[in-house]
This record gives sequence, structure tokens and C-alpha cells, in this order.
Amino acid sequence: MSPANSRDRELRERAAAVIPGGMYGHQSVGLLPDDYPQFFERGEGAHLWDADGNRYLDYMCAYGPNLFGYAHPEIDAAFVRQLEKGDTLTGPTGLMVELAEALTRMVSHADWAIFCKNGTDATTMALTTARAHTKRRIVIRAKGAYHGAIPWCTPRPAGVIESDRAFQVFCDYNDVGSLEAAVAEAGDDLAAIFAAPFKHDAFIDQAEPDPAYARRARELADRTGALLIVDEVRAGFRLSRDCSWSRIGVQPDLSTWGKCVANGHALSVMLGNDKARAAAASIYVTGSFWFQGATMAAALETLRLVRDTDYLERMTALSETLRKGLDDRAKAAGFGFRQTGPGVMPLFLFDDDPDLRKGFCWSSEMLSRGVYVHPWHNMFLCAAMTEADIAATLDAAEGAFAALKRQVRDLSPVEKLAFLSAGAR
Ligand code: PMP
Repeated sequence: MSPANSRDRELRERAAAVIPGGMYGHQSVGLLPDDYPQFFERGEGAHLWDADGNRYLDYMCAYGPNLFGYAHPEIDAAFVRQLEKGDTLTGPTGLMVELAEALTRMVSHADWAIFCKNGTDATTMALTTARAHTKRRIVIRAKGAYHGAIPWCTPRPAGVIESDRAFQVFCDYNDVGSLEAAVAEAGDDLAAIFAAPFKHDAFIDQAEPDPAYARRARELADRTGALLIVDEVRAGFRLSRDCSWSRIGVQPDLSTWGKCVANGHALSVMLGNDKARAAAASIYVTGSFWFQGATMAAALETLRLVRDTDYLERMTALSETLRKGLDDRAKAAGFGFRQTGPGVMPLFLFDDDPDLRKGFCWSSEMLSRGVYVHPWHNMFLCAAMTEADIAATLDAAEGAFAALKRQVRDLSPVEKLAFLSAGAR
């Protein structure tokens, strides 16, 4: 828990009175180690300051939106320039057309774009578009994959009724047989196959997409007339300047984007091909803030940086140094430490850590050394990180592994057994 006299503690106590549960969603109280701050004050580049002024190198990047650095001067200047002219107006600015043109030039499968605000808007809109296109009902998605927080896909059951979840069939990501079985089960009512760019579920090892699975998803969609949807909300522009399944030669009909598209300004988008254009034009979707000009100005500047800089290559190179450095330090300290998924979106889990006790402990040790990591969710590198930041992370990790080792060593045999093989937290 944050220290008794801290601003964070004070805000938590006040929040408990006026915000149900004190906080909600992925930041809910108790999902992170107790010493993690709940409230933040500012961000700059790759760093984040909590409400008490502590500075962290931030490997969460706001859960993805921070791609080029917090408070990026050019992106935020574009935002402010448009803000001064007008943001939420009776209709969109011309920037909307420019942005749709920029995105369709950049993403191979895309012929058109519809803008919205959150990733969940885009994924829900994709589902609706597929149902409008096929006049069918069933969507196939992978067990454990996150597509947003709305009754059809929220990970928690509270308040959700059966009909919200109707017409969904689940398969196992990367398992061709289970995808084929799901398609067979959907029969002639299949509207869409949803897929994450790679397996980025929480709490378990991540996995790259098996090209055979991606190709089979494409074939099955073509054979049945269903639409293939790749949900890029989390991974978009961190793996590729195109839809990330382009890397394995598979193009979806629809893709959904959000988070980093405007480098932290609220914008998400559904992109689609000509096959789905008429259906996309037929559905009724909108929102009071969906046409905001300032966010679109920020997105155009973000896309310019995606297109014209070597951010992706730099981030990828840094991620390789980080992965190797962490591997070496974990091995030297004698820990089985799994780093899975793409280097720029890594997830760290310890071997023999069923209740994440080691992960929580190590993460807290990292935090106390100024590095904000996550014990069970994938993390994100950003283009504002430098070699010096990676070196600082590796130094912190060396200290954190040593501290974790000490904690295990200092326990009595019974406590040690409990620590190493504890049941559920
Ligand atoms: N899809 C994926 C893959 C996501 O990671 C997320 C957000 N974590 C969403 C959809 C929903 O996006 P948002 O939180 O912006 O609604």
C-alpha cells in the first residue's frame, strides 16, 4: 500500500467513497501489487510521474496508446492547433477525409475507414458490419481473447445476460482443428471470425500467430462468405506499418484499431475492404465525440511519424537488447523467467509461480527502482525509449532478481514452500 501520508493513499480513500470499488476495469483495486500507485500526475516521453511525484520508466505506455512518447511535441502541437480552431463541432472537419485517405494508403486491405473513440466501439462496429454484410448471426472468437468491455465481450459476467452472449462460438487460438470445428458448429449462420494479431491474453504466455491458422481462417471465411476481422486495437503499428497479419501474408476484410492511432488522444477506427463497404454504409453508428477535429489532427501527425521515421526498427532493436539482457540476468540469478510475445509487447512470467507471487514481488522490486512493469499483462515499448533506458531497466532487473532471491532465502522452510508453490492468491 502506498505510504500512509501519501497523496496516492489520500486519493484512494476519497475514491473509495465516490467511485464504486475505488476504481474499475483493468485498474481495479487489487489487480496490481499493493505498492503500485493508483493515480498519476503527468507523462513525458517514456516516463510517467505518479501523484506523489515519483518518476517511472513506463513499460505500460497507458496500455498501448503511448507509441511516440507522452506529451509528444509535434503530435500535441497539431492537437492544440486544431483545438484552438474547433474540436467538437456540428460535423467533422476535412481532417476526417485526410485521415481516412492516410490510413487506406497505409493499410493494405483497407479501402475505407469509420472513426470512433474506443477500441470497443470499433470491435462492436466490426461485429455489426459483419452481421449486416452476411445477414447471419454467429461470430467465432478465441477463448480468452479480449475485444473490449461491453456485454457481448466483457471478461466479467456481472450484469451480462445470456442473450448478450448469444451467437458466439469459441475456438482455441492457433488451433486449426478447433477453428474448423467452430466453423462447422456455426453452420450456415456464420457472420465473422475474429482474431487477435497474436495471442496476447493476460496471465498466460503469449504466442505468435501460426501462419497456418491465419491462412485457414482466411480460407474458411472465403468459403462460408463470413468476414475475417483482425483486432489490431492493442498491437496496431507496433509490429508493422500495415495490418500485422500482412507479415504472414493474410489480409482480413475488417480490422479494428485504437489506442496508439493518435498517440494517446481518443480515437479508434474500423478499416474495411470494398467487399464490406455497402454493409458498413448501412449500419447506424455514431457518437457525440466521434468527429472531433483535434484528435484527428493528432492522428495525422502520428501517422506521419509511423510512415516517415524508423521508430519501428529502433523499438524492435531496443526490445532485442532488453530480452537478451533480462534472460541473462534471470539465468544468472537462477530464475526460470519466460518472456513471451513480440519483443515490443512482452509479457513476463516466472516458472513455478502459480499464484504470481514471484511476479508480484519482482514487479514491486522493479517499481521501487523506478521501472513500471506489469506482473500479468503484456507490456509495451515506445519509440521514446533509449538505449540508456534499456540499460537502466537491466540494472533495475539485476537488483530486482537479487532482491527476490533474498526474499526466498530469508523465509523459513515452511514459508519458502508456501512462497514457491502457493495456491490461489
Ligand atoms: N481489443 C483489444 C485487443 C484490446 O486490447 C482492447 C483494449 N485493451 C480493446 C479491444 C478495447 O479497447 P478500448 O479499451 O479502447 O475500448
